[in-house]
Amino acid sequence: MSAKRIGEAVGDSLATRCLEAALVSHKLAHAYLLVGRDEDAKLALATALAKSGNCRGEHGLGEFCDMCPSCRQVDSGGSPNIRFFGDSGALNIDTVDQFISYASVKTASGCLKVSVFRGVDFFTDVAADRVLKTIEEPVPGNVFLLLSQNSRRVLSTIRSRAQIMKVERSVTMADPGDVSPAIGPDTSLEVLLDFARANVSLSETVGRLLRMRSQNSPRDNAMAGLQTLALFMNSVLRARGKVSPLACVSLSTEPELARVNFVLDQSRVGLFLDHLGERLKHVEQNVNPELVLTNALLELRRITTHE
Ligand SMILES: [Zn+2]
Repeated sequence: MSAKRIGEAVGDSLATRCLEAALVSHKLAHAYLLVGRDEDAKLALATALAKSGNCRGEHGLGEFCDMCPSCRQVDSGGSPNIRFFGDSGALNIDTVDQFISYASVKTASGCLKVSVFRGVDFFTDVAADRVLKTIEEPVPGNVFLLLSQNSRRVLSTIRSRAQIMKVERSVTMADPGDVSPAIGPDTSLEVLLDFARANVSLSETVGRLLRMRSQNSPRDNAMAGLQTLALFMNSVLRARGKVSPLACVSLSTEPELARVNFVLDQSRVGLFLDHLGERLKHVEQNVNPELVLTNALLELRRITTHE
């Protein structure tokens, strides 16, 4: 029996890796705003998160077996640990009431309860106000996934309280019209490895990350860069044997990650991931992407050099 990771189930993307890192380090945010046009990808991601958070199988943290009663309940729609509200269209206010009553029920110990709210783009002020009260003071064990097609349409009160993640197709499933060379996780990890080994300067590293996908804007590249930082942190933990190796990272990269001079202090790792979430929000709010990336790399340097 082989366990699955979230990324394997729904296609590797920066969002899945970021969620895996947060799950493994027990640092899930209360609320995530999952943004993207592919509604199926967002729903599949939610399902995989509910499975990983509740699987009873024998395997590493953040993985799931797809066979135990808990995983099967998620697939059959009968799991108490995941519920979907709304659809991708206009919002019915009764749905908000159902969401609030589901989210206010305590979870069984050790369970992760995933509340998925679709169509967050269509929230009115009244609906947003009521939902916010619930997501700001969650009952422990709850995580809220708010699904949006376009984050610019989401009320700023919601945007500012959720960690924003772009859910995009993985590189291997990229648009066939896209002829630029595939940029796998190894490529972006190499940039961070060079930085961690002090082979490349801070400003050069920021430049490389901002130009990583030439067809994307610096802002999109900055968001991808921040999520790569989360992957980097997760990969170092895995390379140190704290959790099982990531399938998407090649064997040549793995030993290099194990050698990074790195303080494995849970509280610092947690803080670093928290800050990454804040920084993603800043880029989303149009703070200069170069500045945000620079600050994130400075924090990484402080951790890697024991300062
Ligand atoms: Zn399972």
